[in-house]
Amino acid sequence: KLNETLMNQPLILTKDIGAIRRISLNRPQARNAQNQQLLDELSAAFNAAKNDDAVRVVILAGEGDHFSAGHDLKEAQEKRANFTVEQRWAYEELRYFDYSMQIWDFPKPTIAQVQGACVAGGFMIANMCDLIVASDDAFFSDPVSQTLATASVEVLIHPWVMGLRKAKEFLYTGMRMTAADAKEIGMVNRVVARQDLETATMELAERIAQAAPFGMKITKKSLNRSMDVQGMRDALSAHFDTHQLSHMTEEFKSIRDKGLSNTIKSSVNKG
Ligand code: ZN
Repeated sequence: KLNETLMNQPLILTKDIGAIRRISLNRPQARNAQNQQLLDELSAAFNAAKNDDAVRVVILAGEGDHFSAGHDLKEAQEKRANFTVEQRWAYEELRYFDYSMQIWDFPKPTIAQVQGACVAGGFMIANMCDLIVASDDAFFSDPVSQTLATASVEVLIHPWVMGLRKAKEFLYTGMRMTAADAKEIGMVNRVVARQDLETATMELAERIAQAAPFGMKITKKSLNRSMDVQGMRDALSAHFDTHQLSHMTEEFKSIRDKGLSNTIKSSVNKG
């Protein structure tokens, strides 16, 4: 097996097409599972796009057949299984919570381009984007409450983008939601054929990039504030604390000791 870190292969690719910056998760052989290196590079890529005045819109995509299968649980098991509360808090606050909110708060319009699996940590970052364009083979799932006994993933964006009742069904059952169903509930903006995904996402980005950038920036700020005044940011912050507690329960520990990645793999594969 190739050691990606030693080979220094970038796990994030960036490409500019006019005023559009395409940031893509580049670990297709692992279904774009998010390890520490990938997340650190993702944060750096968003930071660079923020500071580059030539960039007006960002597309967040995934190379290969899947957008992202979520956090790299194999790495989590190997490196962080015995983390103390303090160590886990620091790791997850920076890489899962703060990096996610960095995308939410990114001062330019963002579009997630989603195909195949968009699961757990993948679901989390896709939903930090302003818009989602999905291919008809995309599916969404957050099975971790079902399979790992944690309180969902670190950022509980679900009720805000799905509605409360769907979010409960989604998390209680660990179900897969199709792209068509996700569009029906308003979580996804557009669904297109797989071969049209990149073009359709680019067309939407180009349309948005025609608008004056400061106008877009303050429009986004106001739209996001309409969620803040409803308490979204406080609710997300409170959930992060609850999620940390769920990493220390007897339920979670017994599942962890059997192997995190095996548990989630069987759940993702069984559909
Ligand atoms: Zn966690």
